[in-house]
Amino acid sequence: AELPAVVSADLGVPTVHRTVVDYANLDHGASTPALVSVKHAVDTALRTYSSVHRGNGYASRVTSRWYEEARQEVRRFVGARDGDHVVFTRNTTDSFNLLARALPRETEVFVFEAEHHATLLPWAKGRTTRLPVPGSLADARALLAQALEQSTARNRLVVLCGASNVTGELWPVRELADVARRHGARVALDAAQLAPHRAVDLDALGVDYVAFSGHKLYAPFGAGVLAGRGDWLDAAAPYLAGGGATAAVTELGTTWQRGAARHEAGSPNVIGAVALAAACAALTEHRDAVEAHEAALGRRLAEGLAAIDCVETYSLFAADHERVPVAAFTVEGLDSSLVSAALSAEHGIGVRDGKFCAHLLVDALLDDPYAAGPATAVRVSLGLANTPEHVERFLAALASLAAEGPAFEYEHGPDGWTP
Ligand code: PMP
Repeated sequence: AELPAVVSADLGVPTVHRTVVDYANLDHGASTPALVSVKHAVDTALRTYSSVHRGNGYASRVTSRWYEEARQEVRRFVGARDGDHVVFTRNTTDSFNLLARALPRETEVFVFEAEHHATLLPWAKGRTTRLPVPGSLADARALLAQALEQSTARNRLVVLCGASNVTGELWPVRELADVARRHGARVALDAAQLAPHRAVDLDALGVDYVAFSGHKLYAPFGAGVLAGRGDWLDAAAPYLAGGGATAAVTELGTTWQRGAARHEAGSPNVIGAVALAAACAALTEHRDAVEAHEAALGRRLAEGLAAIDCVETYSLFAADHERVPVAAFTVEGLDSSLVSAALSAEHGIGVRDGKFCAHLLVDALLDDPYAAGPATAVRVSLGLANTPEHVERFLAALASLAAEGPAFEYEHGPDGWTP
């Protein structure tokens, strides 16, 4: 089976002693390069291009059709059911903010502190129960069940993460969703890190809502999705007030559309939707090849990291828990941002360092976060633009850094560490 091709970066990245043309971008967890098929879809869409749902001109009708076809493609991708809406948003953060605004009064939200800020923060204070970072799977189940048992709220929403953007671990979504359902709660799934690697079928996962971002799914920035049950969305005030969301405006008042349009006021990001849908189609078509490629890279990454002295990796659940090819680690005695700067400048390898918009989780994972300088880690995250050579280069570079420290002198300035 074939892998979908990514648009290759044809920039030569300057490092200190040479220009690395095959810069190894091991930061797919932040944003992915676009697929070639996505680039083609965008190119085609840009050729006949007008407004959406705004008229009967030819170009406008073509563009409107693309937009709705993109929605249908996403419906298939998430296995949308009758009564589910697929709303195009800007990204996962936007999707969860929309959902937060659409909750009926008297809804209590349950969210683990291990979550990304995009799903930890949008909920109104006073009706959110934060569950501590779990120490094990059993702990996660028990924490959730206990909190739900104590709740007297009329409506309940449990927010779950599909795959951690820090440890890469897959959350036991189906299992926790079953716990939620037994207590009459709905479930919203953050699939930002799951959708690039695994199928995200609403029914199979047992969830009511799913959200993800195009830019982590081999499409460009600016388009995301919130898909799921339509009733709360139809009853809520529009996310944005404006054209496209209205059914009728008279001097007496305004009535709003039902369905996705209610929350998509303003001229929509058609090109972004087309791109995102093309990525969904390609990932579905090549699912087996993608999973096999990433499983091989991920195995080698995990085994290689475990073999380097002075490197510690982090897990929420267990070292051998199933995960997407993402890992967070620290190097004894070295500041994480220095590790990341040296990997880039000396080896042509891009990774991320910091707290990954999951401050509470990183603080919980790092044994003594305030013991030695900033409590940050390095994250390596793999995907379709990566080859086995990238992983070997990364592991060799990290081993030499851990054993001997950086090869150059670095200074810490406003732009971080520079050689
Ligand atoms: N959830 C997770 C798990 C993520 O990794 C991210 C992005 N880092 C988000 C949500 C937010 O995605 P976006 O920045 O595209 O809104």
